Amino acid sequence: MPATVDGDGRVTAWPTRPHWTGLDLAAALRGVFPAAEVCWADDADLAALAEARAADCADLVYAGVGTGVGGGIVLEGRMLPGPRRGSCELGHVIVDRNGARCDCGRRGCVQAEASGPATLRRAATARGAQVTFEELRDGFAEGAAWAVGAVDAGCDALAAALVGVAELVRPTALVVGGGFAMGIPGYVERVAARTAGLARPGHPPAPVRPALLGGRSSLYGAVLAARDGLGGVGQRHR
Ligand SMILES: [Zn+2]
Repeated sequence: MPATVDGDGRVTAWPTRPHWTGLDLAAALRGVFPAAEVCWADDADLAALAEARAADCADLVYAGVGTGVGGGIVLEGRMLPGPRRGSCELGHVIVDRNGARCDCGRRGCVQAEASGPATLRRAATARGAQVTFEELRDGFAEGAAWAVGAVDAGCDALAAALVGVAELVRPTALVVGGGFAMGIPGYVERVAARTAGLARPGHPPAPVRPALLGGRSSLYGAVLAARDGLGGVGQRHR
C-alpha cells in the first residue's frame, strides 16, 4: 500500500490521493477476502524485502524512483522500521531545506527533488518547453545540457538521501529501481558516482546497484511476506 496506514489499518495520508484519507483499509480488505487472514505493508518496504532476497543481501537500502520516490530498509533480512511501527518513508528525507515543495507540504524532500515529475519539471524549465519522459531519455542519451542537468540534479538529491540513510543503518548495498530510474540508461551509474563522491574518509558508502526485479518488486515482496508466515511483517487480522 503506497499510502501511510496506521496500526489500526486506516489510511492516514496519501498526498496524491487525498480522498483515500480515512479509509479503513483493514475493514475493506477483510470485506474483499472474508475467509483469509489479511496483512499489508508499504509497497516500497515490500520492494526492498524482495530486492534483498533477490540479491541474497540481508542489509540493504532500496530507493524506487517513479512518480514519487519510495524506499525501504532491510536489516538482517527484515523490513525496518517494520510495519507495526509504520513505513520507511525514504522519499520524505529532506535533502534541501530550501528546495522544491513536496506533496507532503515540506520543502526539499528527496521526492520533491528527484521524482520523475520533478526531474521532468526541471528539464522543462531548462529547455524552455514541456518535456516528455521519452524526450528526457533521448536528450540525456544525446548529452543535451537541459536533460543531463535535470537528471544529474535528481541523482544528486537521491545520492544525498541514500548516503544519509546509509550513515544510520550501515547497509552493504544501496539499490536503485523504479520505472523512471530504470527507464533512463545510465541513471543508476550516475547515482553510484555521486554516492561514491560523498564518501567520508575511512567510510565509503555501500555500492549502488540497479534493482533486479523491475516493476513487480512490490508484488514479489507481498508474496514473500505472505509465504513467510508474516513473522513481524504487516498486520494480521482475522
Ligand atoms: Zn515530503
